[in-house]
Amino acid sequence: MTIALPILDVGPQRPSYAQGPRSLGSVRLLRLSITDRCNLRCVYCMPEDGVSFYDRKDLLDARQIVAVADAARSIGVSHFKVTGGEPTVRGDLVSIIQGLKALDPDDLSMTTNGVLLPRLAGDLKRAGLDRMTISWDSMKPQVFQALTGRRGYSLNDLHRGIEAAQDAGFDRLKFNVVVVGGVNDQEVVDFARLTLDRPWTVRFIEYMPLGESQLLADGLDTANLYTVDNGLVADRIEQALGPMRPIGQAENPLGGSTGEPGEPGVGPAQVFSLPGARGRVGFISAMSRPFCERCNRLRLTATGQLRACLFDGGEVDALAALSRRGGGGNRKQIIEQMARCVAQKPDTHSGHGGWQMSRVGG
Ligand code: SAM
Ligand code: SF4
Repeated sequence: MTIALPILDVGPQRPSYAQGPRSLGSVRLLRLSITDRCNLRCVYCMPEDGVSFYDRKDLLDARQIVAVADAARSIGVSHFKVTGGEPTVRGDLVSIIQGLKALDPDDLSMTTNGVLLPRLAGDLKRAGLDRMTISWDSMKPQVFQALTGRRGYSLNDLHRGIEAAQDAGFDRLKFNVVVVGGVNDQEVVDFARLTLDRPWTVRFIEYMPLGESQLLADGLDTANLYTVDNGLVADRIEQALGPMRPIGQAENPLGGSTGEPGEPGVGPAQVFSLPGARGRVGFISAMSRPFCERCNRLRLTATGQLRACLFDGGEVDALAALSRRGGGGNRKQIIEQMARCVAQKPDTHSGHGGWQMSRVGG
């Protein structure tokens, strides 16, 4: 089933942060995009042809990335998420993880498409990575190939990556499933079923029409048809597998800042468990139910821009506060730029974004 989605609930204006709305004190998670490059071409993320990547010399180096994280840590940011593009295509990923771990965050995680994990998972665990989220959009080999842009990687490669992650000791894995209407929406019950006997969290993400992805090739109106309201996804899961119980704050001490059900890792997902399940089901509903009023994150792009939002608006250049490659950065100036960036957080996102996820660091 596909539906066109208006933005349904705008939610309250940004509320009750400890130090006031749009304050640095509200930021708990820094998402660090370490590259815009990728070995896949997911149809919801990238254009098929003509992907223009940043010049390699313009990407922040490991010391500059760690300098931004260090500034964030000094103002109380407790969670770091390494993302991209695809972080595993970066040759110095392990040393970046080591540098971030040395800052002693409460939580250090990474989002990956998983296909390169067989050769990396062990090193990442030893470097101090706490958790991994793996993108997994279809259990059908052909749909997987179609969704990931036929770049020579198969569903088997992903399965091997998942096994490698578990063998390395990443047992409480999270999986991101971008639900695309008419493509993989018939698989949501199968994905939810995975949580019954595994300690995994499977999170359903509403497709966001950002950048120049292949799904946007026919224009925004058509692209909106690919977004499936997570309310429908939840209904379908409950009809097949029974009523879901919200995971509350007491069971989830790192949950949302508003006391609502959240996810371990201070993320935006609303998290539930199915009857008798070992794992959890999460819903990230940025289109149908924007969660901007409890957004507690800041983003750093691979070229040194701070971003307040995935969608348009709120971009501040941190480069001026960073030394030349190999030199780190000026903590005080970085914090000033962070404050300028957070001050631009929207009450509710615009629903539009000129940058694809691989650039903003989804
Ligand atoms: N390459 C890694 C991966 O795919 O997991 C990390 C970067 S990717 C941009 C981060 C997450 O954003 C992935 O789970 C991906 O599925 C999701 N994503 C990308 N484009 C999206 C879009 N247009 N709408 C919703 N989610 C999207
Ligand atoms: Fe690459 Fe991740 Fe974007 Fe897919 S979603 S194209 S794996 S960056």
